[in-house]
Amino acid sequence: AWDRLQDDLRSINGQQYGAYKRLLGKYQHTSPTFTLSVDHVQGDAYASPSRVRAVIPWQETGLPDEYLQSDIRRIALCDFVTRVCASMIRAQHLDQNVSGGGGWSGPKGGAFNINSPGQEILPRTSAMIDGNDTIELRFTVSLPAAGRTVLGQQAYQILGVNLVELVKKSLLYPNLDQEQLQRHVQTAENQQSLRHQLAKHNLTAFIANGSVLPRASGASETPMDSATVVPFKSPEDLKVKLLRADGTKVSGMGVPRGVTLLTGGGFHGKSTLLEAIQLGVYNHVPGDGRELVVTDPTAVKIRAEDGRGVTSVDISPFISNLPGGKDTHHFTTDDASGSTSMAANIQEALEAGCKTLLIDEDSSATNLLVRDQRMQSLIRNEPITPLVAKARALYNDHGVSTLIVIGGLGDWLSVADLVIGLDSYVPRLLTTEAKSVVEKYPSNVQEAPDYGSLPNRSLQVDLRGLRAPYATRKHFIVLKPEAKSAVDDPSEAEAGIDLSSLDQIVEIGQARTIAKLLQGIAERTANGAVPVVSLIKSEADAIGIEHCLPTTLEHGDLVGVRRTEVVAALSRVRGLHVS
Ligand code: ADP
Ligand code: MG
Repeated sequence: AWDRLQDDLRSINGQQYGAYKRLLGKYQHTSPTFTLSVDHVQGDAYASPSRVRAVIPWQETGLPDEYLQSDIRRIALCDFVTRVCASMIRAQHLDQNVSGGGGWSGPKGGAFNINSPGQEILPRTSAMIDGNDTIELRFTVSLPAAGRTVLGQQAYQILGVNLVELVKKSLLYPNLDQEQLQRHVQTAENQQSLRHQLAKHNLTAFIANGSVLPRASGASETPMDSATVVPFKSPEDLKVKLLRADGTKVSGMGVPRGVTLLTGGGFHGKSTLLEAIQLGVYNHVPGDGRELVVTDPTAVKIRAEDGRGVTSVDISPFISNLPGGKDTHHFTTDDASGSTSMAANIQEALEAGCKTLLIDEDSSATNLLVRDQRMQSLIRNEPITPLVAKARALYNDHGVSTLIVIGGLGDWLSVADLVIGLDSYVPRLLTTEAKSVVEKYPSNVQEAPDYGSLPNRSLQVDLRGLRAPYATRKHFIVLKPEAKSAVDDPSEAEAGIDLSSLDQIVEIGQARTIAKLLQGIAERTANGAVPVVSLIKSEADAIGIEHCLPTTLEHGDLVGVRRTEVVAALSRVRGLHVS
């Protein structure tokens, strides 16, 4: 029972820090009934923190059973309780800075923590439902120490008192803001349902009227202040009505499948619209402004990324006859150029199942997008066939749409099915005007009859001799050799996987999930290369954002991620082997 926790802590008080290991195991609390499971105890006060879970029977919470009815409801409920916990912990930390004491943060600060979410509602291991039986919260705790000895009293304040408080306030239905919870779940459900209607309406994206797309600043993901924002408004010709999950209708702009141009003058909101669309693969929290912006769940933002490593990607649809006879059907390099990296990014996205490419001229290699008439005449041995010549064939052959922001490359007008112009953040349909411009100023876009092949690699990830991969930030996974020398080698300091071109990774927890998956993939491929497709299948439980993560995943700081990002990360491991 709970007294045992107090007894155990009393008995190790003042002992060497290692005595905390005694806590490993389970303690039972009554009223409310829940189990404290101490899963990992840190070796010393400076090691990464201890891990604990509070597991409570579903019945005990009083939460309505309707929240168990679908994965999306479970995901949104768990996301919500995580937020309640995170904000309680934040508030207590702030409070404590004023008043001192209380045990919410230990002598070293930040004693108690839950992985804190951003603007997206995602599957998380911070809160998980097991079957229909239990719901659990997963925390980290820095167990308090005085020098190298156990502070039993303080530890009891954290685990015995504060944790109970958190469980009561975040998991017991009567204590929750029930209206807010309801809205959180319904918002997620609505977005998912809108997203699932896109295919039926032949759309790649939908942006509801009234949406707030711009963010507060380049460094913040919260919405721009409503006093300055121009709310989104669809042009009449592109207006569609979709049904929310709750049966109400919502109107907005539908972006049809095919080749679509977003154009307009500089600073008129093109990139802002594209960014909202690229994050429309996720569900957003109520109040975000983008909670009715939804996108084809397979859509991938493509960038140029010179310097990246590429392993055996077939980039032949775009590039052939490289100098030195380099094979572009199995293109491998340690240091790709702007155009070869962008071609590889496209092909890898297609390999992972992408059906919509999202591209911004701002972050592209111009020579992969176009080659104008003058350059065609001047340069005869150009190895690149630009995307402008392939976009139509890509759609015809493989059903892959292209949505591209274009400000300066008029050749694209020749291949667009649809041209949307932004004028002071307000979209207008410009297809007809664009057609007459094309007639008036003809260009010489030579469209390719076929796209060519999609990649289909077999890869082997060799992590032998490396420490387990781990994420140090949202866009970086460290792959360090096992520590061998005391002297840090600066050239090795940043060895790892650079994810900074993956604009659709929104939380460090996603990078952690990827790191964990890479470990599994390395084990699975230990005896030879395995097709990327089947690697993804074998990890299917842990990949994806539409189902709950498996409770067998340890740690409370993992967040759901799409297979696109997993394949993208896998592809960036340097020194992959191919069969
Ligand atoms: P572009 O890509 O066309 O050059 P951006 O999308 O970068 O333009 O937008 C330029 C600026 O306008 C940004 O600071 C952005 O926050 C702001 N902005 C974008 N959309 C809106 C809007 N609907 N209302 C108010 N400001 C906006
Ligand atoms: Mg821009």
